[in-house]
Amino acid sequence: NKRVKIKTLLEQSPIGESVTIMGWVRTRRSNKNVSFIALNDGSIITNYQVVADPNQISEEILKKCATGACLKISGTVVESQGSGQTSELHANSIEVLGEADPEKYPLQPKKHSLEFLREIAHLRMRTNTFGAVFRVRHALAFAVHQYFNDKGFFYIHTPIITASDAEGAGETFKVTTLDIGNPPKTEDGSVDFKQDFFEREANLTVSGQLEGELAALALSEIYTFGPTFRAENSNTTRHLAEFWMIEPEMAFYDAEDNADLAEDFLKYLINYALNNCQEDLKFLENRLLDEEKSKPADQRSEMGLIEKLKFVAENDFVRITYTEAIDILKRSKPNQKKKFQYLIEEWGADLQSEHERYLVEKHFKKPVILTDYPKEIKSFYMRQNEDGKTVAAMDILFPGIGEIVGGSQREERMDLLVRRMEELGIPTDEMWWFLDTRRFGSTPHAGFGLGFERMVQFVTGMGNIRDVIAFPRTPGNAEF
Ligand code: ATP
Ligand code: MG
Ligand code: MG
Ligand code: MG
Repeated sequence: NKRVKIKTLLEQSPIGESVTIMGWVRTRRSNKNVSFIALNDGSIITNYQVVADPNQISEEILKKCATGACLKISGTVVESQGSGQTSELHANSIEVLGEADPEKYPLQPKKHSLEFLREIAHLRMRTNTFGAVFRVRHALAFAVHQYFNDKGFFYIHTPIITASDAEGAGETFKVTTLDIGNPPKTEDGSVDFKQDFFEREANLTVSGQLEGELAALALSEIYTFGPTFRAENSNTTRHLAEFWMIEPEMAFYDAEDNADLAEDFLKYLINYALNNCQEDLKFLENRLLDEEKSKPADQRSEMGLIEKLKFVAENDFVRITYTEAIDILKRSKPNQKKKFQYLIEEWGADLQSEHERYLVEKHFKKPVILTDYPKEIKSFYMRQNEDGKTVAAMDILFPGIGEIVGGSQREERMDLLVRRMEELGIPTDEMWWFLDTRRFGSTPHAGFGLGFERMVQFVTGMGNIRDVIAFPRTPGNAEF
């Protein structure tokens, strides 16, 4: 018999044909006349119903078909009466590929809390929720490549080990080839970090942007999509120490072109999921509805997951400057819990996630593209505006998430770039390779970074970033 995936079987329902399926038992119900086995192979959210007749399948085998066991089942596809599906499988033979002791198997056929499942991340992908999340994550990753490929962008692999720290994008993890007990020392006796990677300095990348700029000033339109590392010693629901970032970088784009691309790209990803992950999104939406029910009525969200995704995909994002945002925040009334009372008093302060979410969720009720931040709170490479105070930065803020994208038009003018670096004490000699792109054939260019996990969070509605990456890296968490 040919092995078929359960997804294919459900789609085609080849009544009368003999097929073989393999997968893991979710539940088994038995009486003395018949056993019903719900099997799942991860290809689709739906479990497939297998009917086993004790006259055909031995008692001994049936006993082993417990929750968690892995089975290979051959049988005949028949029309289904009771299962709510078009077809089911009448088992002719069952082979137990891997037994599971139902007493010890951590995933019982009931709803487990996300906190509990985080502790068993090695098994949680076998649950409906995580199956759905990782199928959606896959679809979004695929859509990223499809989007840029269709637009003629080239996929560039920027280094994971690098000496550049993208100047302040985040705390770095050091990479060392040295005997930690006996490191090279500088003259004053302290550890010489300049020498720890084969006599050079190195860390794990916090952003592929600077290298991406080099590529854009050669291939015009490029993107990176790779792992990114930041030693964030904090416990928020939107920061990981290891996350994936998508960073397009485009020559000949100005700030507005950059915002247009980002908005189009985010909508494309949402539409891709809506069109290709309907069943999983439906399941995740219902899961959220259950969660919402336990909240007080005034805190429940007004839209279901799918409605929310459609709303974001179909409506223009709001575009305002940082200065306008500060005015809005200043005028905002503190809510009952006085949560927003400390809303920015001073122009120049960086926005906290409460401020971002206030703008998106309370004020505009739409995604917001926030531009032209004060130069003091943004990186040296962002293009300086005429006013001398702001730079052509762009953050995109999403409901439930806050910042999902950070980007800018880059400073392409050599003299202004060097002056800014000197003001900030950034050694221009060490950055000679970066400055060469301005020295030789410079041109306006722009780009942005999308945190992939934050996008997966938004699309799946998962509240905690630890639940959208298979093996989250957070402080104290690196076992497997
Ligand atoms: P935040 O203000 O949330 O710390 P950031 O401004 O430090 O983010 P950027 O350097 O602008 O982040 O990086 C670009 C994007 O990468 C962010 O908009 C966000 O989507 C994502 N990102 C940044 N840090 C993390 C992290 N620690 N874990 C997951 N995603 C992240
Ligand atoms: Mg940060
Ligand atoms: Mg930020
Ligand atoms: Mg940012």
